[in-house]
Amino acid sequence: MSSVASEAAAEGFLTRFGSKPEGVWSAPGRVNLIGEHTDYNEGFVLPFAINRRTFAALGLRTDGIARVASSFTDEVVEIELAKISNQSVAGWSGYPLGVAWALIQAGAKPQGFDLFVDSNVPVGAGLSSSAAIECSVALGLNDLWGSGLAKSALAKIGQRAENEIVGAPTGIMDQTASLFGVLDHVVFLDCRSLVAEAIPLGLKRAGLEIVVMDTKVSHRLVDGGYAARRAACESGARELGVSSLRDLETADLNRAKQLLDPVVFKRVSHVVTENARVVETVQLLKDSGPLAIGAQLYASHESMRDDFEISIEELDCAVEVSLSSGAIGARMTGGGFGGAAIALIETSKIAALEEAVAKEFADLGFAKPELFSVFADDGARRES
Ligand code: ADP
Ligand code: MG
Repeated sequence: MSSVASEAAAEGFLTRFGSKPEGVWSAPGRVNLIGEHTDYNEGFVLPFAINRRTFAALGLRTDGIARVASSFTDEVVEIELAKISNQSVAGWSGYPLGVAWALIQAGAKPQGFDLFVDSNVPVGAGLSSSAAIECSVALGLNDLWGSGLAKSALAKIGQRAENEIVGAPTGIMDQTASLFGVLDHVVFLDCRSLVAEAIPLGLKRAGLEIVVMDTKVSHRLVDGGYAARRAACESGARELGVSSLRDLETADLNRAKQLLDPVVFKRVSHVVTENARVVETVQLLKDSGPLAIGAQLYASHESMRDDFEISIEELDCAVEVSLSSGAIGARMTGGGFGGAAIALIETSKIAALEEAVAKEFADLGFAKPELFSVFADDGARRES
């Protein structure tokens, strides 16, 4: 099966490199329905792959050189595979070259390659364009190099590329959603066991859609905020004598409050209550479907705003306007400090929501937001 978008990637490859690619692989971005900053605490997350994808057109070379190009830029980055390191690679090419590096670290037999990447996943909006590029390239190189790694191993390859070559201390959620997504399902991932279960989402049947509201405020994971939250979680777990915050229940929070510094307590409180909300959401989806999960979504937003303190005015505004426009639930999604919020809302109410958000953002002097609906789509695959 070859889509128009996949053919465009092959076309781009031909233009940049003067030959046809050996294949095209694609991987989607993701939206996290609920479960934020729980992944690196060995907790639960509930993301889904979205109908926005990154396409990686790849061809092998006979030498040990990688050339990587993207529709985002005219630049073609060229490097010997053996020389890839966090010192030698910078900028966007760190994502695909980091994947090649991580595959080699995992024992793959490397061969030079040309790569052209084309994508309709918005960058820096909290939709994980980073996992989309990593997973499309990981799946493609895994096939072309004959590495034979399973999807769960490829998720770790993507994470390692991002952690060690790009230098962003992110968890495993994004890659798992991008690789394991299923049409109209969410991916319930236990970040301790790494067991992933597809749970029916049932949006269409319920007459609902998920609207992504991109604030256009760009988050920067490589900067301090994310690392500081991780550090607070680690110190909270250490002081409470558990190996990770996953081991705490909401009933433990009383004791935690006595023991911890007030800021660390707030961070811990978010993670512990968020894990409980993910589990509740899964149960509600199974028992009653998506109309029943609104309260969990908003409680998650409040927890990120007040306890984890990673929301910003624009995200709070998008969430409040969604609820006053009749959304079932709404919350910021992604790492925070910018990016996007989501609203779970009846299809018939979306036009009014778009108008209300645009007006409120303009009145408050915020940048013009971008709103679009997404659905839960299939994960990474070979396109041609
Ligand atoms: P997010 O994952 O939320 O979109 P990140 O900051 O984690 O934001 O990742 C975005 C970065 O990933 C971009 O700045 C760029 O370096 C890289 N990237 C993502 N998609 C592409 C692409 N199609 N072409 C080139 N680089 C990309
Ligand atoms: Mg990212």
